[in-house]
Amino acid sequence: MTPERKPGEGEPEPLHPELLAQHDPEAILRDGQRVDHAEGTSNPPRPEPQPRGARIRGSRPVDHAEASQRFLAAPMHAKIHDERLWDLRQKRDGEMHGVPEWEELRALASAIKEHTLTHLDEYLLQFEANATANGAHVHWARDGAEHNRIVHSILADHGARSLIKSKSMLAEECGMPHYMASVGIEVVETDLGERIQQLDNEDPSHTVVPSVHKLRTDVAEVFAKTIGTDPKDSDIHHLAEAWREAARPLILAAEAGMTGCNFAVAETGGITVVTNEGNADLSANVPKLHIASIGIEKLIPRLEDLAVFIRLLARSALGMPMSQYTSHFRGPREGGEMHFVLVDNGRTERLGMTEFWTSLKCIRCAACMNTCPVYRRSGGLSYGATYSGPIGLIIDPAFNARKYSSLPFASTLNGSCTNVCPVKINIHEQIYAWRRVMVAQHEVPFVKKVAMKAAGELLSRPAAYRAAIAAADTALAHLPRFVLYNGLNAWGKGRETPEPPKQTFHSWYKANRGGTQ
Ligand code: SF4
Repeated sequence: MTPERKPGEGEPEPLHPELLAQHDPEAILRDGQRVDHAEGTSNPPRPEPQPRGARIRGSRPVDHAEASQRFLAAPMHAKIHDERLWDLRQKRDGEMHGVPEWEELRALASAIKEHTLTHLDEYLLQFEANATANGAHVHWARDGAEHNRIVHSILADHGARSLIKSKSMLAEECGMPHYMASVGIEVVETDLGERIQQLDNEDPSHTVVPSVHKLRTDVAEVFAKTIGTDPKDSDIHHLAEAWREAARPLILAAEAGMTGCNFAVAETGGITVVTNEGNADLSANVPKLHIASIGIEKLIPRLEDLAVFIRLLARSALGMPMSQYTSHFRGPREGGEMHFVLVDNGRTERLGMTEFWTSLKCIRCAACMNTCPVYRRSGGLSYGATYSGPIGLIIDPAFNARKYSSLPFASTLNGSCTNVCPVKINIHEQIYAWRRVMVAQHEVPFVKKVAMKAAGELLSRPAAYRAAIAAADTALAHLPRFVLYNGLNAWGKGRETPEPPKQTFHSWYKANRGGTQ
């Protein structure tokens, strides 16, 4: 680990002093802080503690609602989280409108993925043969535990005790960070957001922007505790510079590097990794040993297919025409070694699930998360799982239906996720299908089950429904407030009940059109 440094003592000269606000005549300052950057507005006037995620208790069901409630109880965090992600959604829309053939690209991407998934055995073998011919070592991992053992044995063969790593959701899914800590391997995340999360002992809360739920004052606090910066200095340029200074020696000293993989091309045996910080290139090229973890669903048949996905990915993820780095790795560098670990971990089982197999088309762009009103207002950590947001709702229960039984209900089913998905996954329909599975498997709380049954009965009897609505409108207008807003009414905790309308649509229709509906 980096040696501790007292705030203000022995500060190294920054590599790029021209980026600091006091050297920039254009910078807008408030209370000594730079505010002319998008993140500048995230400095709260009165810092509030960062809300933490869902409480995990083995395989017991994750209580998403409880964790969301705690997230919403931190209004500054909740507001900024919502705004940042909505900003990404709007930028994505802007980019989408700039590509006239957007819908054709989506259809093509979906078709390529469906074709690959239905011929996965052939493409995996083709990839293995070509990668081996290129000089890479190919390993097969049945599950997360096997993945971790393989990575550890490769490191052990090389006597490596330290590993620099660029962002990989698959490594998180396999529980690799905890496993490596248990066998004494130091893992250093090189993606800035991921490193912030690692230093704070938290999982990533978002697939693309892992610490998006944090304010910069939270980051200042984490860095002050771990790399010795000034806890009161939350200038993002200072923070980024401090991490850069702390990271470089770790990267240069690392004995092995690990990357994830966005796309694995069967016809070439190469992989493509897309980042914005260039950290995958450092992880793959600085140490002589490069290990890449690859989910078997990442396969695409041909190099020319890559263009379709590259055009969709950055636009959908961050509303950018291109990511900063699109890096292709095909064989080991001179004197080095390259290992590809192909991981199943439940994917072939999911491939056999009629209603859920197309979730394997996902390219982890996170567009569905950015647009989801529930995700934006509850934060990724409230899902208590590696994958959060709408895609998490359909992937996580496939890993553990009981533990993640509450997640398919964390959706309004508005379909916005399906509309933005670049590979046309019918996300909201799969969420609904999981609800049916949960009910069939009795994984729904008793109170919800009774309430849903009663609602079903009511909705199937129009006369009773109208009478109930009329009674509810009268009751809402006259009942004392404490009857509606008490501990039993979870719905009322974050919301005000709207004014009941003076007239229902049914009575208006009857009065104005005179017929029956
Ligand atoms: S489900 Fe679609 S929108 Fe969501 S992360 Fe995957 S590819 Fe992106």
